[in-house]
Amino acid sequence: MSVSTTAPYITTIGLEIHVELNTNSKMFCGCKVAFGGKPNTRTCPVCLGLPGSLPVVNERAVEHTIKIGLALNCEIFRSSVFHRKNYFYPDMPKNYQISQYESPIASAGSLDIPNGVTRRIGITRVHLEEDTGKSIHAGGSGRIADSDYSLEDFNRAGTPLVEIVTEPDIRSPEEARAFVSELRAILETLEVSDVRMEEGSLRVDANVSVREQGESGHGAKVEVKNMNSIRSVGRALEYEEERQRRALGAGDVLVQETRHFDERSGSTSPLRTKEYAFDYRYFPEPDLVPFEPSERWVGNIRSSLPELPAARRARFASEYGIGATDIGILTASTAVADWFEQAAVAYGGDAKRIVNWVIADLFGLLNEAGIELSASKIAPSGLADLVKLIDTGAISGKQAKLVLAEMFASGGEPGAIAEAKGLRQESDASTIETVVDEVIAANPDAAAKIMAGGVNTIGFLVGQVMKKTKGQANPALASELLAHKLT
Ligand code: ADP
Ligand code: ZN
Ligand code: MG
Repeated sequence: MSVSTTAPYITTIGLEIHVELNTNSKMFCGCKVAFGGKPNTRTCPVCLGLPGSLPVVNERAVEHTIKIGLALNCEIFRSSVFHRKNYFYPDMPKNYQISQYESPIASAGSLDIPNGVTRRIGITRVHLEEDTGKSIHAGGSGRIADSDYSLEDFNRAGTPLVEIVTEPDIRSPEEARAFVSELRAILETLEVSDVRMEEGSLRVDANVSVREQGESGHGAKVEVKNMNSIRSVGRALEYEEERQRRALGAGDVLVQETRHFDERSGSTSPLRTKEYAFDYRYFPEPDLVPFEPSERWVGNIRSSLPELPAARRARFASEYGIGATDIGILTASTAVADWFEQAAVAYGGDAKRIVNWVIADLFGLLNEAGIELSASKIAPSGLADLVKLIDTGAISGKQAKLVLAEMFASGGEPGAIAEAKGLRQESDASTIETVVDEVIAANPDAAAKIMAGGVNTIGFLVGQVMKKTKGQANPALASELLAHKLT
């Protein structure tokens, strides 16, 4: 995207990210946590906010939140309090949300994003709250403005929700995208959430302001909502950055407001301005006591944290000698990284061989079929066995591609597939030598040229050997034998 004026601008971005936890039951009641389903089938007096019902804290949700806090290098509060955040909205029947205010479970952390140079982004806070229900605006585009009526589904109401707030440390849309991907990878590794942006289990609100270089303080902050993929976060911020630069360039005054990102047009439009800023009248939730995670509990959670993505990337480099670009591709999803690692271990040799087969060939097949690795029929050990067949000379690299395609289609084992398809490579030197001799005898001119120093015509004779053996000769061996005989 081009910069519309020559004045240098500084972009400041801070993110507020909501993560639905994947606990079995809801935050304050025993209703099941799940996505979708028949509306209003997973509700009870507590999550419907009926008078007289009382909340009970979900211990697993607190544990997940502490995990997230620790993974983001936060301090964990010794005593944490739930607050009521009061506002009226039809998807929230209590007319308040149980959230956290002054003493969130975790705060003052950081996350390093590996975007070329590593950049450290401050984490302001990580707090625990409950999700709202879902309003369905019917009869129009799906937005409230042009709908005929609205329906409420309270299945989601009361789902444990973690909010992660960053410091305004992010400097570009690209960096914001990198931050969200890294955070998503961490949450995936911690197994605390499904982190599906398209299903709303990971929701990103982006605050962005632009100011001219040399201006002190930040410009007016605009909050952008409604991005349902990491790519959309980048697109929305690029649009907004450009819009604000243009406005400043034209001498306009920017106002603090909330804007809505439209996926189709790639643009943002005003939702509300600061005039509508809420006063939530936070006060401590009288139905819940403060909770104090013991040092021992926090210590246990800390020591049971899995290897996080940054550590894994470092290990992929040192242990397997893989380059940064390939590591980025392999670790973009935890499932892919796990799969790769199982294949590399099963293989036991130089893992870079496995990397190439995964990135160049397997990903190609997955793309073509439009499925994810987890849905494919190829087992990590199957790929390892395939590469071993090439290493021993049993099949050629070219034949291996055919075998892989069949493994992908049928889930079979590479040795059996190669045999069934009659794919084998002739690596017996004396068998190939016989063919080499025949080829030399049949092509005296080419042979003479090579003997006169024209080594580059050797490829032609190797081709003849391959043709005669219907592609089964080991080409390296054929080439070696030809060179030995003719030079
Ligand atoms: P509010 O009072 O509107 O909630 P906060 O200070 O709590 O504002 O910040 C909310 C989010 O906005 C945080 O992620 C923060 O990093 C980000 N933010 C704050 N100021 C700016 C700014 N000038 N430009 C971009 N983002 C900002
Ligand atoms: Zn319930
Ligand atoms: Mg705030």
